[in-house]
Amino acid sequence: MKVVILGGGESGVGAALLAKKKGFEVWVSDKGKIKDQFKTELEKSNIPYEELQHTEEEIFDATEVIKSPGIPDKVPLIKALKKQGIPVISEIEFAAKYTNATIIGITGSNGKTTTTKLTYHLLKTAGYDVAVGGNIGYSFARLLAEGNHAYYVLELSSFQLDGILDFHPNVSVLLNITPDHLDRYEYKMENYIHSKFRIIQNQKGKDLFIYNGFDKNIETYLQGKQLGIKEIPVKNVFHTKNQLTVGVSEFDTTKCSLKGQHNMFNATCAIHVAKAVGVEHKFIQQGLDTFVNAPHRLESVATIDGIEYINDSKATNVDAVFFALSAMEKPVIWVVGGVDKGNDYNAIESLVLEKVKAIVCLGVDNTPIIEAFLGKIEIIEETQSCKEAIKVSQQYAHVGDVVLLSPACASFDLFKNYIDRGDQFKAAVFDI
Ligand code: ADP
Repeated sequence: MKVVILGGGESGVGAALLAKKKGFEVWVSDKGKIKDQFKTELEKSNIPYEELQHTEEEIFDATEVIKSPGIPDKVPLIKALKKQGIPVISEIEFAAKYTNATIIGITGSNGKTTTTKLTYHLLKTAGYDVAVGGNIGYSFARLLAEGNHAYYVLELSSFQLDGILDFHPNVSVLLNITPDHLDRYEYKMENYIHSKFRIIQNQKGKDLFIYNGFDKNIETYLQGKQLGIKEIPVKNVFHTKNQLTVGVSEFDTTKCSLKGQHNMFNATCAIHVAKAVGVEHKFIQQGLDTFVNAPHRLESVATIDGIEYINDSKATNVDAVFFALSAMEKPVIWVVGGVDKGNDYNAIESLVLEKVKAIVCLGVDNTPIIEAFLGKIEIIEETQSCKEAIKVSQQYAHVGDVVLLSPACASFDLFKNYIDRGDQFKAAVFDI
């Protein structure tokens, strides 16, 4: 049995380590460069690999191919493999065969990382034997190669779900479906929606499906369907200033660092999961009190001269910005821009007009933003670096305002990735 792994990133290397451990012959092939840390790992485990090329004789010799989620199905190599009848699966699918643990799978267009991390934290606080990974941190395959836990909380992207056959979460969470990554789905929203719903395709009987009950795309898709599994549609978020109510349970949110209605929705979903697997109320409360979210998500960086700076670099689509702006209680200098993924700013126009006093574009081509808001927002400036963006923001910000980096766009025009963009933003703030 020869397993060929296409892509030598975290997912591919995790799959390689697990496949090796399970006694397969393994070959890793990456058309780009493999990071040094991953090469070292492969070498240590005696796993052969190649980079900057795909050697077809090696690849077509596979019994099974595990494809990195970054490789689209439409590339000629994948098409050719499938034509020859060689199964091409995702690392998630491969890994799941090697565990009987309870799997909690979390997907959606926005809020995956926050909800995944919070769910993990609630279970961990209660002393559960739980690991977290998937689309964040360690790949599922790596987690399984390194040990066995009773529970796995997995963040799942649509690309990962595309490559599953039998993968089956015991608890699935679908947070929302809003336009994203449409370039991978022939620019058809229905294809993207279908991809997200793969999370429940193998669920049955006692499995639980928790989903956003006020998301139009989810509602439409589910209309008239009998799923035959347990369902919790989250139709409302019951949150007052200091309290979140989930079912019959009430939680104090005064110490909770998560802000905004969208995060209270994420918390509601995470609490439903925790309750479903038996976590006691006191541990959920303790978990909410002590949770620290990943950086770059509505991260309050500093308040300098009465102006608050918030880094929401992970907001790479319009929907995420909608929730960021909704959570703002002060006048906003909005730092926005980057690589536009076909954004429709109409969806947030009224919110922008209500909350934003100045727009500071941070991107190479800012035309879509300028076209959307010219004549509607008095101040629109263009900048090409975080330093410049902060400097320009300072000119317009007054005591009590907030400078919010919530870009609605990908970062690749000026930065390595959203982390680099957020880090540069924070560095520029600390430089003031
Ligand atoms: P993901 O992993 O799906 O990208 P994150 O938790 O990293 O989600 O959050 C990404 C961005 O989306 C952040 O800007 C965050 O403020 C925003 N966000 C988080 N949860 C939600 C939600 N439920 N709905 C809309 N936007 C959200």
